[in-house]
Parts: sequence; structure tokens; C-alpha cells
Amino acid sequence: MHEFSLMQSVLDTVEASARDAGAERVTVIKLVIGEMSEVVEEAMEFAFEALSPQTLSAGAALEMRIVRPRSRCAACGQEFEHDRYHRACPHCGSLACELIAGRELYIDAIEIEN
Ligand SMILES: [Zn+2]
Repeated sequence: MHEFSLMQSVLDTVEASARDAGAERVTVIKLVIGEMSEVVEEAMEFAFEALSPQTLSAGAALEMRIVRPRSRCAACGQEFEHDRYHRACPHCGSLACELIAGRELYIDAIEIEN
């Protein structure tokens, strides 16, 4: 489960930002997760519950926004959304498509209490 190491680095980053801002605690953590990143939401929740006690993020709400994969077709130039397994261009059928979204994994925002 790579979610544990991911969540650890999320919590480290949040902790540093919250301390810089003089926060007493973190109330909300918003993450953006691309569907192609293979991150499982339930595993992230589980890792959060396991790792967040003893940090400023203890008890915070974890909000995850899932980004659908998008690709651009190298043959016809169209951009299209697809799922994790189907990446052929729906316009011309080409498989020469470049992933332009869906691998995101970042902290969008945090909310804190001073
Ligand atoms: Zn195409």
C-alpha cells in the first residue's frame, strides 16, 4: 500500500504549513487525486486515521477530489476523457495518445484554526 507513504508526506507538508501559519490545529485537508495515480480513497482514509493522531491534523476532515483521466490524441489533436483502461481516441481510434490529466496527486488547500 503506497497510500501510507503518500499520506505521511501529505501530513508532513500540512504540518509544516500549519506551523508556519501559527495554527493550533488543521480542520480540513483537501487533496486532488488523479484516477490514474492508482491511489485508493479508502486506503488514504485508513492511512490518515492511522497517521494523523499526534499531529495538528488529528480530527481534520479529509476531502478528496478525484480527477478523471484526459488524453490528447497525437493523430487528430482531440482531447478526451476516458477511464483507467481505455485510452484509444474516440474520434479516430488512434492509440497514440498522451495523458494530460489524471496522474495528479497534490494538496489543494488546507483550513486551519489559530
Ligand atoms: Zn484521434
